[in-house]
Amino acid sequence: MAIREIKHYEKDDVLRKKARPVDKIDNRILLLLDDMAETMYNAEGVGLAAPQVGVLRRIVVIDIGEGIIELINPEIVEEQGEQADMEGCLSIPGITGLVKRPARVKIVGLNRYGEKVELEGEDLLARALCHEIDHLDGVLYIDRVEPGTLRRIDQETENRG
Ligand code: ZN
Repeated sequence: MAIREIKHYEKDDVLRKKARPVDKIDNRILLLLDDMAETMYNAEGVGLAAPQVGVLRRIVVIDIGEGIIELINPEIVEEQGEQADMEGCLSIPGITGLVKRPARVKIVGLNRYGEKVELEGEDLLARALCHEIDHLDGVLYIDRVEPGTLRRIDQETENRG
């Protein structure tokens, strides 16, 4: 395993590109999953999407403190309700802003064994899932931020992905 470089949104336009689905889960993909988890934990983030380490494939990892979630080709199939909270991003260091997200989401995707998984998340997990899946389409939270709420942070303690 290895820690990969997290791309900065102003320095690398890979973060604005649409990622391609994974058609075959080979050793490169498994290594990428391992590296993404290590990179996320090293950066103390709650989630990481493959484009953030420069790989345009539809893969995310999330850990909101309840264990690692790995998703390949994730899709949001249901959204319910609304929540608003401060959000940050490992690729946009030093700032945070208020973003509205669904209160609950249902996701389908594949695990590392190629098995179909269905996952329901609420609160922070719903937020993290939406944030990371946005990354796969080149969408950043600053595109969705409530006007006037972006602010600098000295200590990066927000929920970052
Ligand atoms: Zn992010």
